[in-house]
Amino acid sequence: TRNRQYSVDEYVSQILAGSIPFLSRAITLVESTKASHQEKANAILERCLAYANKSVRIGITGVPGVGKSTFIESYGSYLTAQNKKVAVLAIDPSSSVNKGSILGDKTRMEALVTDPNAFIRPSPSGTSLGGVAQKTRETIILCEAAGFDTVIIETVGVGQSETAVHSMVDFFLLLKISGAGDELQGIKRGIIEMADAIVINKADGDNVQNAKIAKTAFNRALHLYPPKESKWIPKVLTCSALNHEGVDKIDAMINDYLSLTKTNGSFDKRRQEQNKYWLFATIEQQLKDNFYNNTLVSEALSKAIEDLEKGTTTPFNAAEKLLKINR
Ligand code: GDP
Repeated sequence: TRNRQYSVDEYVSQILAGSIPFLSRAITLVESTKASHQEKANAILERCLAYANKSVRIGITGVPGVGKSTFIESYGSYLTAQNKKVAVLAIDPSSSVNKGSILGDKTRMEALVTDPNAFIRPSPSGTSLGGVAQKTRETIILCEAAGFDTVIIETVGVGQSETAVHSMVDFFLLLKISGAGDELQGIKRGIIEMADAIVINKADGDNVQNAKIAKTAFNRALHLYPPKESKWIPKVLTCSALNHEGVDKIDAMINDYLSLTKTNGSFDKRRQEQNKYWLFATIEQQLKDNFYNNTLVSEALSKAIEDLEKGTTTPFNAAEKLLKINR
């Protein structure tokens, strides 16, 4: 009965019982482009929603090599040692191009892979960041229903992926390493503003002093931004993910954040705003998909491009006509 189709009821009761095989299968349905799979996934999601929302969602970003996997392995193990259940997801919008993404790669998190309290799922592939992000958001719901109390979402800063992750997590952590006093160079605009904490990794060996200098520089940079509505003051910490040093302080900081924002209401408010954001993002995505997937539109679009090149129409006239086709 390996190919047996499970009912929505079976899926839901197994997920709620914490079954990892069923969780994985349900995520595969979520990620599938087949209409029948999507329909089933939606039914499962709807039923799981009532049991979701109870976790802490943590976003982690940083350039390749900064130590994201090592950090998640170290922090994840720290949490599971306290009997917490940790799910690790990833958003890699480039994975549609490369196939097989390196983010959330199980071989890079050896301890967590064999940890019964951890679940690691690599980035879904997709044609657009919006699509990948939507699948990840749905996967968060499934993981929460399966009893995971911490959901870590990893991303590298490709395109807008940091913004996408920021808009689905409670706490956004930027991982950095110290440089030659130029740590603020080349940092993407807006990323500091999004961060609830900056953690300078690899603060070990000869790097300890440089990490301290970087910490001062980032602290100074953070002070240039207006205070957050949540009243949370972003922190800068150092750690050595490799040596498991400083991870306890990071956990304590996240707990401080949670108690502050849950007390003053900004935790719930942030989630509400994220839900609204995703409502509109999904609508916009669907409208676009409907438009571009319409065969009449795609035929007319090629024609419109030809006309544009010939100079017989304007972009605005062409757009107006194309939009009418889809109405
Ligand atoms: P990612 O690409 O951001 O996921 O980075 P990885 O976790 O794969 O780490 C990249 C390299 O940095 C690996 O060789 C790690 O062993 C090393 N690394 C990660 N964390 C630390 C750390 O705290 N200290 C030192 N010295 N090396 C580290």
